[in-house]
Amino acid sequence: MSNVELQNVYEELKALIEKHHDEIIEFGRKLFAYPELGFKEEKTNEILTAFLTENGIPCKNDIAMTGIRADLGSGDGYHIALVADMDAIYVKDGDKTYPFHSCGHCIQTSVLAWVMKLLKDSGLVEKLGGTVSFIATPAEEFIDFDYREGIRSEGKIKYFSGKQNMIEQGVFDDIDCALSMHINGDSGTLFDIDSTLAGFMVKKAIFKGLAAHSGVIPHLGKNALHGASLCMNALSYMKDQFPKETGLQLHPVISSCSGSVNIIPEEVVLESYIRANTLEELMLAGEKFDLCAIHSAKALGLECEIKNETGYMPLSQSKEIGNVVYQHMLEICEDDKIVKNVISGASGDVGDLGYLIPTVQFGFAAVKGRVHSCAFEIADEENAYINTTEILLKTVCDLLAKPELQVKNEDYLTRKEFYMKNWLQKEHS
Ligand SMILES: [Zn+2]
Ligand SMILES: [Zn+2]
Repeated sequence: MSNVELQNVYEELKALIEKHHDEIIEFGRKLFAYPELGFKEEKTNEILTAFLTENGIPCKNDIAMTGIRADLGSGDGYHIALVADMDAIYVKDGDKTYPFHSCGHCIQTSVLAWVMKLLKDSGLVEKLGGTVSFIATPAEEFIDFDYREGIRSEGKIKYFSGKQNMIEQGVFDDIDCALSMHINGDSGTLFDIDSTLAGFMVKKAIFKGLAAHSGVIPHLGKNALHGASLCMNALSYMKDQFPKETGLQLHPVISSCSGSVNIIPEEVVLESYIRANTLEELMLAGEKFDLCAIHSAKALGLECEIKNETGYMPLSQSKEIGNVVYQHMLEICEDDKIVKNVISGASGDVGDLGYLIPTVQFGFAAVKGRVHSCAFEIADEENAYINTTEILLKTVCDLLAKPELQVKNEDYLTRKEFYMKNWLQKEHS
């Protein structure tokens, strides 16, 4: 398709968006009204399934419990996934705690579902060739552990994140690239592009000693708290071994200590997130954490058991696809309204996806009040719903129409093997 023809397609798409302007926003408001925590997104699933089905787009809607995938196109050619988080988060307002869409995931599901509908109505995927899949992923927020532990022991999930379960099940095996978006907290601009997200892993070191009367026979006990305390020191020295730009963060806490004040503590649990901007540094810090814990314990004649919970990989975005998205942002606003390369301390399971396939998750401003709080409010619906729909539709068309933009990771299988073995496997060890 020539550039002139592509310009005509853009004009048609803009007219389509304009025609459905109010419906798109209404759909977003409808999903906003049903905030549900991860792996409990039943109403969200029901609304999205009904919307897709009514619009002639068949879908599978029970992947990793509440996840959805719907495909458009031949199944051949370049394959784009439109990836949307589904879940809400707990917020606290006075003494009330309740689920709330204060991370704006409802905007992702509504916009990407509408992008699918408009692609379907326009017949563009058939015309341009290739395949587009809408993939709604449960449980992005890393919370609600008791519930997730429960459904994991029932065998309903294997990992705490929706995308991780879906990756393991092969949902992304035939996908070449992922397009996604996320609300940002920046009110001075309209968009961000090529931002990073920090990766994290969760560590639990259980120090085991021997209880004894702390006044009479302390020398016959083995103080587990001393092991944890020594480990705390070792960890803060270990941080010095990483350059600042790796963004290494470690804030260990003592989450439990056995006994009472007149007993030498027998068991102490030290827990910490480890965060870093690159996968390499994150995994290295994980290994060093283990050494600090094990050797602190050994030095004092204690035992130490380490438990790992899979976190999220750092996000590194596809520059090539990011540039396509960026060009379409420039059709909406001036360059000074677009922030580039923000290094964020936040994390997301889109980081895992970005490791496996070329991925873009651009940011859009729309919030009044703080993200992740009860003060969250979607103040700029035009940017949240309408501008993002336009950017995504045009990006999809570009990627399908221009073979030179169709980047993929030819080594996907090797990457997935590494991912399964060295990242996800850490879960129960
Ligand atoms: Zn969030
Ligand atoms: Zn989020």
